[in-house]
Amino acid sequence: MGIAENIAALRKKIPPGVKIIAVSKTISADLIMEAYAAGQRAFGENKVQELLLKQPQLPGDIEWHLIGHLQTNKVKAVVPFVSCIQSVDSMKVLSEINKETIKTNRTVDCLLQIRIATEETKFGMTYDDAVAILSSENFRQLSGVRIRGLMGIATFTDNSDQIRAEYANLAGYFASIKERFFQKDKGFKELSMGMSGDFNLGIEAGSTMVRIGTMIFGERNYGI
Ligand SMILES: *Cc1c(COP(=O)(O)O)cnc(C)c1O
Repeated sequence: MGIAENIAALRKKIPPGVKIIAVSKTISADLIMEAYAAGQRAFGENKVQELLLKQPQLPGDIEWHLIGHLQTNKVKAVVPFVSCIQSVDSMKVLSEINKETIKTNRTVDCLLQIRIATEETKFGMTYDDAVAILSSENFRQLSGVRIRGLMGIATFTDNSDQIRAEYANLAGYFASIKERFFQKDKGFKELSMGMSGDFNLGIEAGSTMVRIGTMIFGERNYGI
């Protein structure tokens, strides 16, 4: 099957209220254009370097989501064009995003990445870290930052009960953060959870955004 067919098949499986982010890491600009031609507009990349190479080759109305760890010194390069940074994992990176959005007069949606997996290697903050940031005076000063929700990556496992439990945790964190900090802010509404192997579990748990690579573009080849 081709990319357009994959996208059509995926759209049938995903409720209309759930946004599909096509994860295009390692995928060439030509293949990204195939997805674009099929109507896909939101794309996700996990490496800044790769995003900076591809973005200028591709249409300006693509909505870019950064879904991988963002180092503070790379914020300046992405803020001028990204639409959403899903992988915000520290106050330090938030402050930098704030500085650059004000400087460039842009708004960039941010999701706080919460660590829900048992694996050690995943980036992200704990729920308590998120609460500490959102309660802080420093955070209140950040006029250029718009927190739109949370993102999480489940453990890489075949055990769907474990994934279900991790997504349920994230949905619980989302509800309590919304209640505590965003009662009057209708913009806090995004819950990014679910990938090719587990998007149905994410959607069952209340996901509003799924990040899908393999099901759209096929298996990735990291050798190139
Ligand atoms: C690669 C990646 C995905 C997509 O994974 P697939 O299994 O190919 O759908 C989703 N989210 C993040 C953060 C990723 O790095």
